[in-house]
Parts: sequence; C-alpha cells; structure tokens
Amino acid sequence: MVIVMKKGVSESGMDNLIGWLEKQGLRVNVNRGEFQTVLGLIGDTQGLSMDLISGMAIVERVQRISEPYKKANRKFHGEDTVVELGGYRIGGGHFQFIAGPCSVESPEQICGIAQRVQGAGANFLRGGAFKPRTSPYAFQGLRGEGIELLLRAKELTGMPIVSEVMNTEHLPLFEPVDIIQVGARNMQNFELLKELGRLEKPILLKRGLANTLEELLMSAEYIMSGGNERIILCERGIRTFETATRNTLDISAVPMLKRMTHLPVVIDPSHAAGIAQLVYPLSMAAAAAGADGLMIEVHNDPAHALCDGPQSITPEEFAQLAGDVLRVLEITGRGKTK
Ligand code: PEP
Ligand code: MN
Repeated sequence: MVIVMKKGVSESGMDNLIGWLEKQGLRVNVNRGEFQTVLGLIGDTQGLSMDLISGMAIVERVQRISEPYKKANRKFHGEDTVVELGGYRIGGGHFQFIAGPCSVESPEQICGIAQRVQGAGANFLRGGAFKPRTSPYAFQGLRGEGIELLLRAKELTGMPIVSEVMNTEHLPLFEPVDIIQVGARNMQNFELLKELGRLEKPILLKRGLANTLEELLMSAEYIMSGGNERIILCERGIRTFETATRNTLDISAVPMLKRMTHLPVVIDPSHAAGIAQLVYPLSMAAAAAGADGLMIEVHNDPAHALCDGPQSITPEEFAQLAGDVLRVLEITGRGKTK
C-alpha cells in the first residue's frame, strides 16, 4: 500500500502517522520527491482500513499495490531513481555508455580498450573476470587476476569498473569493483541477490534468458529488500523461437519497465544480437526507446577475442556508434551523458 501525502504536510503530522503505522507492525519507506511525499508500507496491510487513512486531513490518496514487487514499483516511488557513481549518473534523463571487452585478457588489451572507449564517450569500463561459459572447456576468465587488471585500467583512466560476480564466495574479490554485474544466468540466484542487498554499491542486474519483466523486478526486490536500492536493470535479449540472432532483444522492455519501475534501464545489444553488425542498429533503437544507457562489448581485435568475438565491435565502430546515439538522445530531448 502507498499513502500519498498532501503538499506542505508538517513533519510532526508525518511523524505521527508514521509512528501509528509502525505500531500496526508495518515498515514505512518515506520517499520525499520534488512534488510529493509518498509513504510506502511494507508488511501485511490487510487489516488496515483504506477509508480511515484516506479520510485523514494530511493524506491525498491511498493506493493498494497489487504487484508482488514493492520497493522496485513505480507506484511506490514515482520519480526515476538516479544511480550516481564517481560523478556520473544513470537514470532520470542521464544516459551512460558502459563499454569494454567481454573478458579481460591482458594488461595491454584492457588498458588499451579502456583508453579508446573513454576517448569515444564511455564513462564506465566493463570487463569479465569470471566468465559464465556454456562449455567447461571454453576460456573461463582470468578470475582474480582479471580484477587486478581492471583496477590497473581504472588507475590509468579513472573509469569506474563493472564486472560480473558468479557466486557469493567470490564477493571479497569484488570489494574494489565499482558496479557488480549479475549475469543473465544468475538472475534468480537468490542467495547471491540477498548478499548483494547487504552491499553499498550499485548492482547491474541482467534479465535472465527466459525470465519475465516481473521476475526481473522480483530479483531487484531481493536486493532492495536487503537495503541496497542502487540497481540498474539490463535487458540483454531473451530466448525465443528465433535462431538467426543469439537472442531476441526485447525492445519493449524499455518503455514497459519504465511504467513498472523507477529503476534505470540499460540495454546490452551485444549479447542480444550475437552479431557485431547488429549492435549499431539495436543501440539506436535502445536510445530512441528511452533506455538510460548501453552496455557494449568492444574489442581491439574481435577476430581473436577469447570470448564473444563475433558480437564485439572495434573501438572505431564504438566511437561512431556513440556519436550517433548522442544525436538520437538530442532528438528525443534527453540531453547528453553526464
Ligand atoms: C556478459 O556481460 O559478459 C555476460 C556474460 O552477459 P549475460 O549474462 O547477459 O550473458
Ligand atoms: Mn560476453
């Protein structure tokens, strides 16, 4: 249930109401927006009389939230969440490029790509250290050493780093990582999500290969209910009957998620398509559809990449793409990356 307060309600009036609600055994989330304050109630609200509350002089209206996700719900928190890190913001009109190789391979590779994508407008560097590969015989990532190399690239460029964690035991290694990625295959690893809820750093949560938007938001809810509300959602393509592309990019996930949740939404066109030539048009579509950012795999030598070469674009292609995306953002009135 959410309670929308009237404008200009005094602090003492608000405190009295919150105290009363807490006595009913509920947790109260106070969302102070620019235009209105909304109290989000967590717990069993069955016994609460909507008529009683909506009749209070300080209350504008009361609404039950029927969806199972509460903290992630747009009704709970009307304004867009803006995730801020190192002076860069994602969400609420702020757009970011997260770019880098699928996997960290060597110091030269990650540092070289970092400098080039940064020069083209990316403010965040991605790179996989622990790789979830379909085959146990495929390159599994440089693991701890991969994180070390990402840190070197960060030292060189100042770019915050994004990397995927695959299980809770590895979390101590991710202490210096700025944004922890939860991959598609781990979207419903609930024990991992609970641990991430205890952290104080942003989480990039990818949609699972065969998961609905509601399930994605329930996974976000796991992290948020633990206290960590800095979540960036990522649509990366879902499995359909189509085999021409690696996955099918669900572009409607962007406007739909914007209705369902206040959390920022980024698109990963690389894993969606699996084909480098499709990354440009899908990026344009994502920007036009209202995404808050793009996560793109960029490699200096895609033909020899140890992972996901066929979908990786070169730094030159990334520079072209980033410039054109900015033009789409201007046309759609969403300004520039900040
Ligand atoms: C990745 O970002 O490298 C990755 C493995 O992505 P996904 O979980 O979307 O497959
Ligand atoms: Mn990849």
